[in-house]
Amino acid sequence: MTNDLTPVIGLEVHVELSTQSKMFCACSANHFGVKPNSNTCPTCLGLPGALPYMNEKAIEDTIRFGLAFDCKIAEFSKFDRKHYFYPDLPKAFQTSQYDLPFCSLGMWKSDKSTIRITRIHLEEDTAKSQHRVIDGKRVSLIDFNRSGVPLMELVTEPDFANVDDVVSFLKEVQRIVRYLGISDADMEKGSMRLEANVSVGRVEDVEKGKLPNYKIELKNINSFRFLKRAVEIEIGRHKELINKGEKIAQETRGYDEAQDTTFSQRSKEEAKDYRYFPEPDLPPITFDKKTIEAIRATLPMLPSQKRANYKKDYQLSDSYIEFLVEDKIIAEYFETAMSCDTGNKLGPKTIANAMVNQKLHEKYPEPAGLVKKLIEITQISYASTEETLAAIDSVIFENPAIVKQYQEGKGQVIGFLIGQVQKILEGKANVVYVREKLLEKITN
Ligand code: ADP
Ligand code: MG
Ligand code: ZN
Repeated sequence: MTNDLTPVIGLEVHVELSTQSKMFCACSANHFGVKPNSNTCPTCLGLPGALPYMNEKAIEDTIRFGLAFDCKIAEFSKFDRKHYFYPDLPKAFQTSQYDLPFCSLGMWKSDKSTIRITRIHLEEDTAKSQHRVIDGKRVSLIDFNRSGVPLMELVTEPDFANVDDVVSFLKEVQRIVRYLGISDADMEKGSMRLEANVSVGRVEDVEKGKLPNYKIELKNINSFRFLKRAVEIEIGRHKELINKGEKIAQETRGYDEAQDTTFSQRSKEEAKDYRYFPEPDLPPITFDKKTIEAIRATLPMLPSQKRANYKKDYQLSDSYIEFLVEDKIIAEYFETAMSCDTGNKLGPKTIANAMVNQKLHEKYPEPAGLVKKLIEITQISYASTEETLAAIDSVIFENPAIVKQYQEGKGQVIGFLIGQVQKILEGKANVVYVREKLLEKITN
């Protein structure tokens, strides 16, 4: 029965941009470890009559993010007001984008799946509520330092059919953001926030494009691991209910780490009406093709391109490649080391191995230093087999008394003999090999 059911998952990811100033005013966008309500002005406090103006850098960063996902970039775009009431939103609307987001119709491909990106838009973050007990009274405090910080939202089509693809995609989003240098995408700090929409349908329906007519929104989950668990739990719960012939109530759910369960946060109000309308205080934004291409030219080489290059040019294995591309700084270290390895004395595998397994990039801050060291090491074991055997024979011939001591049970003298071989070979002996051959010859 369960076999003909398949999960259907779509994602919404928020990323806070690490620009100097906020989205619509000149206040500092840094709100970590800052005295509450110190970075505010009439605009980001939402005071009547205060006028917004746009942060150009934030818009460009959003477009770069969109280009990284092959999105179409809008040549004509605008901001809209999205209305709802909440204490952390004193204007009673969030300045966001509705029908003309900066980026749309993107794509992300891995060797396992292809995910369509519906849109990437830019909006402002809200203030932050804190619930405390002060003098025995329960109070809610609001910090406006976060209010108005630029926030991108990426929405995917419901193209995920399993939770592993969800996690790889989200990790790639984080990696791309960090490669672009537009945010630290730190989930603990809330600069990257994950939401998953989950439903379960019949395989034959989903294959025909007929999606389940409900979805559960998983919200406020601040790690990949917890999101993975929450999605797994939801898939199991839905399958069970469907098999019992029950309907699944559309709602927003959270994840309880201590109990390892999901729980209802609120049932979804039908046809929620945000009364979107164009933001009258901001002009529309236009981009010509030339400007978009100029922004595209600023993109760094992204992880997917590096993966393909490392595979094609260096034939490295997937696990090596993943280690190297995980962090742009590590990838660049590897590339610089490769360019220092003139004449291909070491080759990509030796360099990658020194980094992946021995973490030598941590010991040698300069890639050139690592390459120099590795060349020294490999050259040390360069004495040929003939040279080595000849050296061993002459040491045995010249030290009959010592050899005799060994044969009579004084095992420790072997170290002296190895040392003599090393001396003849000027330190280029492979000690393991010398020991083996020496023992072979003197014990017979
Ligand atoms: P809203 O958040 O306003 O409900 P949408 O209905 O457009 O917006 O859906 C947003 C998210 O829900 C997208 O990530 C989309 O992929 C996902 N989604 C839509 N339908 C389903 C479904 N049947 N099952 C799972 N996810 C879905
Ligand atoms: Mg949603
Ligand atoms: Zn401000």
